[in-house]
Amino acid sequence: RFAINLNVRGIQPSATLRINELSNQLKSQGKDIIKLGLGQSPFPVPDRVVEALREHAHEKDYLPVKGLKGLREAIAGYINRSERMRCTWEDVLIGPGSKELLFMLQLAYYGDLLIPRPSWVSYAPQARIIGRSVHWLPTHAENNWQLTAEELDIVCRDDPSRPRILILNYPSNPTGCTYTDDQLLAIANVARKYRLILLSDEIYGEVHFEGRHKSIARYYPEGTIISTGLSKWAGAGGWRLGTFIFPPELRPLQDAMAIIASETYTATSAPIQHAAIAAFNGGDDIEEYLKQSRRILKVVGEYMHRRLSEMGAVVQKPEGAFYLFPDFSGFRDQLAKKDIKTSQAFCQALLENTGVAILPASDFGFVPDHLAARLAFVDFDGAESLRLAGGDYADQ
Ligand code: PLP
Repeated sequence: RFAINLNVRGIQPSATLRINELSNQLKSQGKDIIKLGLGQSPFPVPDRVVEALREHAHEKDYLPVKGLKGLREAIAGYINRSERMRCTWEDVLIGPGSKELLFMLQLAYYGDLLIPRPSWVSYAPQARIIGRSVHWLPTHAENNWQLTAEELDIVCRDDPSRPRILILNYPSNPTGCTYTDDQLLAIANVARKYRLILLSDEIYGEVHFEGRHKSIARYYPEGTIISTGLSKWAGAGGWRLGTFIFPPELRPLQDAMAIIASETYTATSAPIQHAAIAAFNGGDDIEEYLKQSRRILKVVGEYMHRRLSEMGAVVQKPEGAFYLFPDFSGFRDQLAKKDIKTSQAFCQALLENTGVAILPASDFGFVPDHLAARLAFVDFDGAESLRLAGGDYADQ
């Protein structure tokens, strides 16, 4: 009677959501579950942003498809302050989550998709849904999971004029690693050489632990689209607000995405857009909130890193975001005796036997028997820890 599109058949529902549902199910059966699967900010939305949402709850109109002008101005201002760039409000596109924007970008753009392995769970399935093939770029644990300019060059040099899009995400989900200025500059130079479109997924840009996050757009302004949103640094994942900042050279791509948006979701929810203005305009309270969030995540991340290392896992110290990507290959023989041979089986057994929910490496682009997993260190009371941290650290 009906047939499912071949591109969608065989794709599992988003791994992150799947593990979250299973954890909730076990929890509802009375099991004690430590939820280190879903990468959701542990912190509440800053008070002033919640207040702005309340004030605008009555806004009911459809907004312009690219977003509210006031919000686009606020985001251009935010990028100009943090990156010393000169964006205008017209460079900004608003969407219901950066995930949706990433999908629309893939729909709008013609060419190959390059993504480093490991990468966030949804880039590859999004490509598969629209029938686009994915080219995985190797990265290595001993190299902090960083894509090197050389590896990128090797992939592009065979067919230098082929249209390609590279997604770079840092601080990284799933590894927590980031890049130095020199590394960004080197990647930017290769991107320019092959005229790549560089989608810089900086959704965790505000959640870095040392120094300042810098966008690669500084080094390749004409070809970089910055992706960010409210989900990770303002604790508002469920509100669904993401944004892309385009260089003027890529305005046709922005326009093409706006056509897709106009024929699908129309516009992002009006109250949320009004509230987002408060977040992107910033202020002392938001700065303080971010400062404390980073401190808390750094302490928790380093503690988890130490404990995992002591247990014998090979794991990089997190530099940002809220993830660790431990490798359990050292336990391969022990696990094989229990018939655990894949990262999926490992995570399933861990959840069932200990109540700890984490995500298998296979969801991040690795072959099934690569015994690693992603762990999101966010299962703690963010509101309470901000309250405690605020007292001690507010004047430091
Ligand atoms: N990019 C990365 C690397 C992520 O980890 C996520 C969320 O988990 C997203 C994009 C999507 O975020 P949102 O759609 O909530 O803006």
